[in-house]
Amino acid sequence: MIVIFTGAPGAGKGTQADLVQERLGFRKVSTGDALRRQVKLGTEIGKVAEEVMTSGNLVSDEILLKILKAEVGTDSSERILLDGYPRNLSQVSDLNELKDDHPVKAVLHIDVDHADIKERITGRRNCPQCGSIYHVTLNAPKVENVCDQCGHKGLAQRKDDTEVAVEARLRVFDAETKPIIEHYQQSKQYVRIPGSGNVEQIYKRIAEELKKIS
Ligand code: AMP
Repeated sequence: MIVIFTGAPGAGKGTQADLVQERLGFRKVSTGDALRRQVKLGTEIGKVAEEVMTSGNLVSDEILLKILKAEVGTDSSERILLDGYPRNLSQVSDLNELKDDHPVKAVLHIDVDHADIKERITGRRNCPQCGSIYHVTLNAPKVENVCDQCGHKGLAQRKDDTEVAVEARLRVFDAETKPIIEHYQQSKQYVRIPGSGNVEQIYKRIAEELKKIS
């Protein structure tokens, strides 16, 4: 089965998906992480994706479907948490190609005001070694600049977390991704998760919903 996490960039999808993976045994599939791996490896896909990602725009649906299929696989016993896909209406249709092995069981929309988003994104840091996500004030590591999970010293900021890129990503979200939320709102799988509060408060809301379907 698939559970979709949707919401604006910086709403906390990645952080929450990490917690759900760790505590509830889902497997997180993040298309953003998968693309960043391709960029790091310098593959053909990575070369095409890098510039698009830095500008805050969406990488092509064809590339994303290829990545999605490879990342999700065909083991229907797995519980997959999709972070960052689908991001437009044609990706909602593309997701149907996976439905025999992985039907969509829930769509959790983490709803955060755009005003809060900028603070969240510009304060976001990640571990270059294991990918754990932090925030300088809202979800700081126990020791400043050191990863709690793997002990790596020196947390990094994503290239597309600058103010200019964030504004572009929010515009893309309004134009491309909001329509998918309107689409899913009609379905019984849709749940709105208020994105206010700290990481644990939001996690609790999500876990309650996931227990209903597990
Ligand atoms: P994220 O880590 O989910 O914020 O994704 C970072 C960037 O990767 C986005 O701003 C897009 O450029 C690209 N990306 C990730 N997922 C998708 C998707 N489903 N469709 C198109 N582009 C994507």
